[in-house]
Amino acid sequence: MAPAPHGGRLVQIAQIEASPEKTKELSENLKVVISNETRVAIFNISNGILSPLSGFMSFNDYENVLDSMRLSDDTPWTIPLLLHVPEDFKAGTGDEITLVNQADGSPTAVVSFEESFSISKREYAKKVFGTEDEAHPGVAKIYSMSSKVVSGSIRAVSKFPLNATFERFTLTPKETRILFQEKGWKDIIAFQTRNAPHIGHEYVQKTALAFADGIFINPVLGKKKQGDFKDEAILSAYQALVSNYYPKNSVVLSVLHYEMQYAGPREAIMHAIMRKNFGCTHIAIGRDHAGVGNYYGPYAAHEIFKEFPDLGITALFFREFFYCNKCMGIANEKICPHPESERLTFSGTKLRKMFLSGERPPKEFMRPEVSEVILKMKDAFVE
Ligand SMILES: [Zn+2]
Repeated sequence: MAPAPHGGRLVQIAQIEASPEKTKELSENLKVVISNETRVAIFNISNGILSPLSGFMSFNDYENVLDSMRLSDDTPWTIPLLLHVPEDFKAGTGDEITLVNQADGSPTAVVSFEESFSISKREYAKKVFGTEDEAHPGVAKIYSMSSKVVSGSIRAVSKFPLNATFERFTLTPKETRILFQEKGWKDIIAFQTRNAPHIGHEYVQKTALAFADGIFINPVLGKKKQGDFKDEAILSAYQALVSNYYPKNSVVLSVLHYEMQYAGPREAIMHAIMRKNFGCTHIAIGRDHAGVGNYYGPYAAHEIFKEFPDLGITALFFREFFYCNKCMGIANEKICPHPESERLTFSGTKLRKMFLSGERPPKEFMRPEVSEVILKMKDAFVE
């Protein structure tokens, strides 16, 4: 059975009707220009992906999340969700704020102002990312933001889609919950990814699937780092994998619009919470989940789950898979006793190099149908 939504209720926020009166009313409100990342977060809040949050965090919640990794009502929550505003922004009780899209000036949402406060960006960095090093992409981002934030619940949102190209593959928690029920799935494994699938990914998924009814493959689309696979490449690669290598009706493939924070263990918990809201009972957590560089221990994202016995979704922990000559197949440290010289590890960097030089990766590395899709794309990587 799908778990209850996180915090007990699936948040659904009404859409703004596009009448001339409404447009006028919105233009008379206080305004805050928001980044695409905030716009994506609003989309996720409005669909219940970030339940129980229905807006931007209060000071109380913020402090609790930093210090105890929980909201002030004790619900597990590990990364703050803040609305940054200019330092000179002023609002009072009862004010409504129209959030305006940076890209085209269109209204995205209306927030009822509750309070404003200032954050210490260094404290944020230290507690959320475990480092104050500006070379960390999440730290660099928070340092670039205003330290003044506003809390308030979102009253209404404009009509999405965020990205028409992927609309067909963007399911909401309401939709996935119905879908899982229709399929009769009870145990549903979530798989978070930001890569085109190599054999190691497939083995994690299939090992989990062997004990479940279905797998929810939920690639993250959105802003990427240089050298990452582009969104189109990830989705096409997964379509090729699923149609050729998975039994019918064992997979739901849907994308998540979301910007990676690279917060390692804390982010692994958020990944689990979002998938719980989609109705998954389990989530696969691999090596260095949501990590970057060498900021987190390879299995720190496994350890942190011990602190959340009340999370409401079960994590399945995976060691890294590799190809072993002696085992004559895919194995990992838990089942293979052979030395590293017998092993072929799946390296994203190695794969990227092969693709960039037009080389086809060996089939022990990546399914030929998957490589084919990527090789056919002229520009599969973010430049
Ligand atoms: Zn072996």
